[in-house]
Amino acid sequence: MNQCLSCGQSMDTTVSWGNWLTFKRDQVICSNCSLYMDKITGSRCSICSRPSELICHDCTEWNQLGEVIQFNYSVFLYNEWMKNIISLWKFRGDYVLREIFRDEFKCAFDRVFIDQKKELILVPVPLSDKRMKERGFNQALALAEMLDMPIQQAIGRKVSDKQSKKSRMERLKSTNPFYSSSPIRKKVVLIDDIYTTGTTIRQAASILIENGCPEVYAFTLLRG
Ligand SMILES: [Zn+2]
Ligand SMILES: [Zn+2]
Repeated sequence: MNQCLSCGQSMDTTVSWGNWLTFKRDQVICSNCSLYMDKITGSRCSICSRPSELICHDCTEWNQLGEVIQFNYSVFLYNEWMKNIISLWKFRGDYVLREIFRDEFKCAFDRVFIDQKKELILVPVPLSDKRMKERGFNQALALAEMLDMPIQQAIGRKVSDKQSKKSRMERLKSTNPFYSSSPIRKKVVLIDDIYTTGTTIRQAASILIENGCPEVYAFTLLRG
């Protein structure tokens, strides 16, 4: 018997014909808690995955500034339940929590990139060395590893900057925290846990493009 990491309820984790397909998720959260996972299924902004009928206001602005990504695809909405799970995941430093997302994350990736899989390299958005030491693992790399694709840790991060307290204009003006550690000349999919303002993804994409990458996509677990 395992306990659900979200609600604490005991779970039957014996593999059977009834549960083998979802066994990995069942090891960590119960089926009731799975219902809180809010998958983005309706219309979405074709650039950033925000639930929206059209290209959203933010993406129109990014376009005017000079867009650097082809698009970001997010799988789930960042709701209150997800907030708790993600903070558990990051601060427990527990790799097993990623199993909650494995099946849907991989299925969505395979569907979105079906025609280009052979041309793509995954680049996880890095943490700064300081943050990496505090946390012990990079959740973006943990997600990338579940996709069975070539991974290259092609960029580094100088310092951890608290972007959330800055305005959009300040964020744009602030210097790029990323640097290139090994240039890539193939198409890249940046992998991260969450897309919120889109600034981080675009800063990372800019560095890749400046260093010879022809096209950058982003694939993120959550849309904030
Ligand atoms: Zn539960
Ligand atoms: Zn958008």
